[in-house]
Parts: sequence; C-alpha cells; structure tokens
Amino acid sequence: MVGGKEVEVMGVISAEDFARGRCFQDAHVEKEEEGPKSAQALSRCSVAKPFCSPLMSGRAEKTGAKAQEGPSCRPRHDPLAPGALVMPRPSANHQWACNKAGLPVVDVVVDPHLTSQLRPHQREGLLFLYECVMGMRAISVHGAILADEIGLGKTLQSVALAWTLLRQGPYGGRPVAKRVLVVAPGSLVQNWGAEFNKWLGRERIRVFTVDQDHRIEMFVASPLHSVLVISYEMLLRSLEQIQKLEFGLIICDEGHRLKNSSIKTSSAISGLSCRRRVILTGTPVQNDLQEFYAIIEFVNPGILGSSTAYKKVYEEPILRSRQPSCAEEERVLGEERAAELSRLTGMFILRRTQEIINRYLPPRLDWTLFCGPSPLQVELYKQLLSHRVIRALLQGSTHANTPLACITALKKLCNHPGLLYSTVKEKTDNGSVESTLYEGLAGVFPESYSSGGFSTADSGKLLVLSDLLTAIRHISPTDRVVLVSNYTQTLDLLQDLCVHAGYTFCRLDGHTPTIRRQRLVDNFNSPHCRDFLFLLSSKAGGVGLNLVGASHLVLYDIDWNPANDIQAMARVWRDGQKKTVHIYRLLTAGTIEERIFQRQVSKQGLSGTVVDLGKGAEHASFSTNEMRDLFSLTDTNSLTHDLLNCSCNMDGTIPAVEDDEPASDRPCQLGRHGDRREVAQKHLSMSELMQWRHFSGDAHTFADPYLDHTRNHITFAFQSTISHTAQ
Ligand SMILES: [Zn+2]
Repeated sequence: MVGGKEVEVMGVISAEDFARGRCFQDAHVEKEEEGPKSAQALSRCSVAKPFCSPLMSGRAEKTGAKAQEGPSCRPRHDPLAPGALVMPRPSANHQWACNKAGLPVVDVVVDPHLTSQLRPHQREGLLFLYECVMGMRAISVHGAILADEIGLGKTLQSVALAWTLLRQGPYGGRPVAKRVLVVAPGSLVQNWGAEFNKWLGRERIRVFTVDQDHRIEMFVASPLHSVLVISYEMLLRSLEQIQKLEFGLIICDEGHRLKNSSIKTSSAISGLSCRRRVILTGTPVQNDLQEFYAIIEFVNPGILGSSTAYKKVYEEPILRSRQPSCAEEERVLGEERAAELSRLTGMFILRRTQEIINRYLPPRLDWTLFCGPSPLQVELYKQLLSHRVIRALLQGSTHANTPLACITALKKLCNHPGLLYSTVKEKTDNGSVESTLYEGLAGVFPESYSSGGFSTADSGKLLVLSDLLTAIRHISPTDRVVLVSNYTQTLDLLQDLCVHAGYTFCRLDGHTPTIRRQRLVDNFNSPHCRDFLFLLSSKAGGVGLNLVGASHLVLYDIDWNPANDIQAMARVWRDGQKKTVHIYRLLTAGTIEERIFQRQVSKQGLSGTVVDLGKGAEHASFSTNEMRDLFSLTDTNSLTHDLLNCSCNMDGTIPAVEDDEPASDRPCQLGRHGDRREVAQKHLSMSELMQWRHFSGDAHTFADPYLDHTRNHITFAFQSTISHTAQ
C-alpha cells in the first residue's frame, strides 16, 4: 500500500532507462529498422507480395503488356545517369505498412533539371527531408524541421522535395502528393512563387500565390495548379476552403512563428489531415524548451508524449541541472535527459551553419570603422549624460523603461544630431522620458540649425559614409551598395544624402507594401538596374530577401542582437554573389555604439549555444555597473582597441603573441563586471578580435582602395577576411 493506494510492482526499470527518461515514453518512437514488427512484417511482405521484393527495382527492364497496363515500374528519370540523385528505397517494414496494394517498388530519382543545381549539402538535405516525410526514418515520424542557417538554400531544398513528391513515389511510381501547401509570412508569399519558377521554370509547374487579386476560390476551381502558397493570416481566413482540399505535403516557412504566438494558426494547420509537415526556420529551435515542445508537437504530434509528461521528464530536470546551485545528482540527470531529448528529436531536425557554403562564395572583407564624433555630437552627448534622468539611472532608482529611452536617444545622436533636433524643437512635453531627456538640449544646437537640411559634417559616421560612397562610385562605377539602418528616420536622412549627391537609389522599409517588395528586389538584382543604392530597414524583415546585385553593404547603426546584423550581411554574401563582398560597420568612437559592439562580439562567440536572443535584448535589465559603462563617453580613437591591451603597430600587421601570454589569457577590462563565466566569454571574443587586423586612422594605408579614399574621418579600423579557395 502506498498512500492509501494498492500498488502492484510489475517490473524493474533499469537505471539507464530511468536516467534517460525512456521508461516514461510510449514505445512508439522506435527506429524504423528496429521496429518490433520487422520480423513479422518481413514474412508477411514476402507472402502477400511475392513480386515486389525491393531487390526487384524498376531498374530492371520489364517486357510484356502486363507491365504497361499496370502502374509504372520504371523510374521517371534515369537512376544511372551521372550525378543522378536516387532516393533510398523503402524497407520491407515500410512496404508492409504503406504498400497495401502490393505495387512494384520504383526508384525515386530527383529531376535532373534540379539535381544539376543542387550543392552537395542540399542533396543531403533533400535526402533527409524525403526520408522524414516518407516515414522512412521512424514509423511515427512524418515531419521534419529544416533549421539551416540563412543562405544555405532551404527554399531550393523544399522546392526539390515538393517537385519530387508531386511527380513520383516509391510504389508503382504513383506521386506521393497531389497538391503541396506552402505557408509563409505575408512578405514572402510572392518570393516563394518566384523561387518555384526560378528553379523549375513556368513550363514545369504552376504555382498559385494567394493575394488580393488571386483569391483562394480560384485555386480551388483550378486543376492546373499543384502548389498553393499562402500567408499565415490568409490561411486562417480561408481555412474552410483549404480544409476541403487534400494536400500531400505542408511546408511552413519561418516555422518558429508557430511556436508560441499563433497557437490559432498552428492548431489550424494541425487540423489539416496532411501528416507530412516540414518546418523551415533559420533560428535554432532548442533554446526555449517550451517552444521546442510546441514546434515538435506540430511536426510530429505525440512523439514527446503529453505536455505534462514532457515537463516532468525533460523540461524540469534539464532546467534544474542548468542552475549553478544544482546538486551533482541533478546535473547528471538533467544532462542524461537532454541527451535523450536530442536523440529523440535529432532524427528529424537538420541544422547546418553558413560555414558549409562559405567555400563556394567569393571572399568577404569585413571592416569595422570607428568614426570620430563631430564637435556638436560630443557636446550634445555630454549634455545628455549629465542630465538628471541618466544620473538618477546610474544611482539605481528609476522607471523600468528609462534605460531604453536613454539608449535610443544616444543611438540617434550617434546617427545624426538632427534626429534629436526635430523632437527637441517640437518641445512636446508629454511627460515621457524622451521629452524630459531633451529639455535643455535646444540651447546646445547653434542658432542657425534647422531640422530641414542636415549637414553631413555634423555626424562623424555620415562623413565617413559620404566619403566611402564617393570612393566606390569613383573606383568601381558598376558596384552597388546596400545601406542598412534600424531606424526609418535615419533612412530618411540617408535618402536626403542620396538626393543631394545625385545617387540613384531604391528603398525598402516597413511601409513598403508586400506586393512591391519582390519587384524592388528583382529589379535591383537585375544587371540592368540603374540604382546605385538600396536603402534597407533592418526591421523590414523577410529573411528571404536576396540582394546579390550589391557587393558592398554598410551597416549604418548597430543592433544588440548580432543575429540581425548577420542576417543583413547574408543578404549580400550568399549563393549567386560573384564579386568580392565588402561589409562596413560604422561605429562612433568612444560612444555607446562601441559598447554595444563589444557586447555583440562576445555574444557572437556564444552563437553555437544561444543564438535566439530575440527582440527582447533591449529590454533586458542592466546592472548599475553595466549602465555606468553604457552611459559614458570616452575620448579615444577606438575604445575597443584600447581595451584589448593590444601592443600592435596599428598598421594592419597581426601582432605576434608571446608564448607566455596567449591572447585568450590577457587581462581584459571588459570582463571586469561579470561573473567568471562572463569573463571567459569575453576573453574568447577578445582573442577573436586579436586575430583581426588593426589600423589606426593615421596608418600609412588600409590596403583597401575604397577606404584609402575615406581615411580623413576614420579614427580606427578593424578588418577580418573570410576567404576560401575552392578545392
Ligand atoms: Zn592592435
């Protein structure tokens, strides 16, 4: 008797099964090959379908009328052709379960039109997706998560999967899917249509993209279209019609959207009868265990058990083991459970990083340019820092959203003082932190100042940018430039610069209608495009934006989240780029921008484990020490280089590191506020920065033609190169 209940002991759980949590799992996640039914299945298969042994593939020529009237036994494409990509044949077990009709097994061969365009890692990815959705990896698995980093061709891999399933199948050659549904964020719907046509050509496939002019009813009535592309919002609205259709494959682009916010959407899609579900996402999904459950539950329902069981068996022990104060026992259990969780899910999650494709890409030169602030910027900066709001902040007592408002004010000031001026002038005293912060600034601006015409000379970064653009125009007249900012207001300012300098440009920001985006992008990438600049708001979103028409990219301001900047760079440095890519990141020396940069670099060193920083970073709470660091101004050519304690000549030669003092062990001031782990991370990133080339503003040369024309206003520069020689 236990607690008033009668208990019968039915067996002993092995220590290993408990540690790994297997005893709490239903037995249904057996690997296909080791399924309990295999022996039985094998024998039944050979009895029921004596003529469909997997050994007798469609490769063998069949003669006679019988073969012709029955289902096809021949692969659609030649499996023996050089470079042919042949999908694995179903196992006997699979045949027993899925080929009730006893149709002959036919090789599924990817259309050579596509095969010739697939990179090796994309062939691998396609194979993986095929095995998952066909249920060849595990009996109850029909879903997959493709979490490749941006630029690896998730779209192409999906197009290839869809096209293969729409035309072929392992049993009698019958297509696996009659229709394919692609659900994507609204801004990418047109892009998907364009991608299908790009890889397959309009003559092969008809893709229906839903928008104002192309309503879902037209798709329902049309037998010609086999692919439906629709936004998440539209899907909810047209659910009734979509439910009536039968889809053989569902692809959810940017599928991490399903994980928490739109439970409605995910349950709507889950409600569709199709079991073959593919989620595409560029962010790793494992960081938040709750979200991880939701996304797994969507692709392969039931595989992790009920959410209560999941919480008890995995989430809680894993979280406990991550607490610094946990007991040894808890740590071991948590690690075991985490290992089991990734074993269970690993068979249908694929994530590869950019490195895999780097060797196909042209070299990339990364420059971090430190720009001296203008006298007006310095004066305003000091004024802001001495404001009572910021002083109160540093004393520790303040309102929750104050730090963010102060950070924003300083960041704007770094971009251009004029961005503050318009607000200062309006004198909107609405009691907000911002309006309080700006009081007293009006006196700092010169009498003659007007918010209308911005003077380039008032912003250090704008001076550098203006020189840089002149240099590019002069040296490589056919090169084009993407100019990225976080702020629409800053884009307005940059646009003014373009107009004044007579540069042709186009612009994409949050206000650009979805329907125009694709046209803008296509137009810019065309060799006949006459636009010199592409002004891009980093918040405009759309991971799929591909801007290989440009070979220079300027990050005008800095974001807390390194992932955003990496994403921006990947728009230019990606498959299809033919020229050497130049990335320029502009920082105002000694200001908050450098301090954000330092935090960014240290997070980047961590990216293997924690990448999904989300948009929440700016709202994170800062310690008083951290805020003291953020809200200070240092008169220097490069605070970051000062903090490195680097003894280089600042002429771009990489400093020799003495043996007794490896770079990673150097004393480093950056880490002084943190705990031990933080210090270690900072050291890591520091050692990374130590491998970059360092140039002081008065260095003899930057060894870069564009920057040597821009030197007047650069106080310091870091440079790193990524180049891979194709083997
Ligand atoms: Zn140095």
